[in-house]
Amino acid sequence: MITLRDVLQQADRNKAAVGHFNVSDLVTLRAVAEAARELGAPVIVGVSESEREFMGVSQVAALVRSIRDEYGQPIFLNADHTHSLAKALEAAHAGFDSVVFDRSTIPFDKNIAETKQAVAELKAINPSFIVEGEIGDIGSGSEIHDAAPDSSRVLSTPEEARQFVDATSVDILAPAVGNMHGMLRSMTRGESHKRLDIERIAELKAAAGIFLTLHGGSGTDAGDLKKAIAAGINIVHINTELRIAWRHGIESALAAQPDEVAPYKILPAALEGVKGVVRERLRLFAARMAG
Ligand SMILES: [Zn+2]
Repeated sequence: MITLRDVLQQADRNKAAVGHFNVSDLVTLRAVAEAARELGAPVIVGVSESEREFMGVSQVAALVRSIRDEYGQPIFLNADHTHSLAKALEAAHAGFDSVVFDRSTIPFDKNIAETKQAVAELKAINPSFIVEGEIGDIGSGSEIHDAAPDSSRVLSTPEEARQFVDATSVDILAPAVGNMHGMLRSMTRGESHKRLDIERIAELKAAAGIFLTLHGGSGTDAGDLKKAIAAGINIVHINTELRIAWRHGIESALAAQPDEVAPYKILPAALEGVKGVVRERLRLFAARMAG
């Protein structure tokens, strides 16, 4: 079976990106797996600390493994935004493929020291386990925000990227390049979009020399996303867009069937809504830039 590292190398060569979609229930997990399967695309399922606390760490690992085994599908599991070594180790022991070890909110030198230690301990458990480190502050919460955090305007520098990667030996770097977590209300209505600094992404890619992840991809200008992938982004995270589709699906199902109580008759609308978003995003991530 193909590994996450193989998939990332393939994406890097093809100037395509792998979609990373967060889940916190079986409906969203099924939507992600089915959309990827139908398109023949590899996919990463992400669960943050709160999302995996809700689903159960070993339970979500078992679910993803069972899909991989049953369908022979390249579906991988990432411990998204993990803020402590203990939780990262728990995920590695549970059979996750990767972790986002996120100490981006502490001072840069401490982030380097803690990430370096995490890489060493995690690789000791499983040498093929993939570790992503994070520099720069892109806010938190895959939710609907009233205003963007001030910090979201500060971009990671090539010097920081080089220093961080050299010192920590992470496999993947998550920089701040104009992206942010969550969506503004105007973005949920399609009235505004996040814009990315494409030139900075290319500079960071050259300086870091490793895989790059774009966090907070929801609500990003589609043209910018394509250019960012061509410039070196290998993974794009989408969460808020799925949550919005999930909620809309449930609301419409409840409105259409006011007396229905069977979950399996209410939830398919949410499943189809989420699946539609995943499908659309995966198509965009796989599309190569013209020329
Ligand atoms: Zn993120």
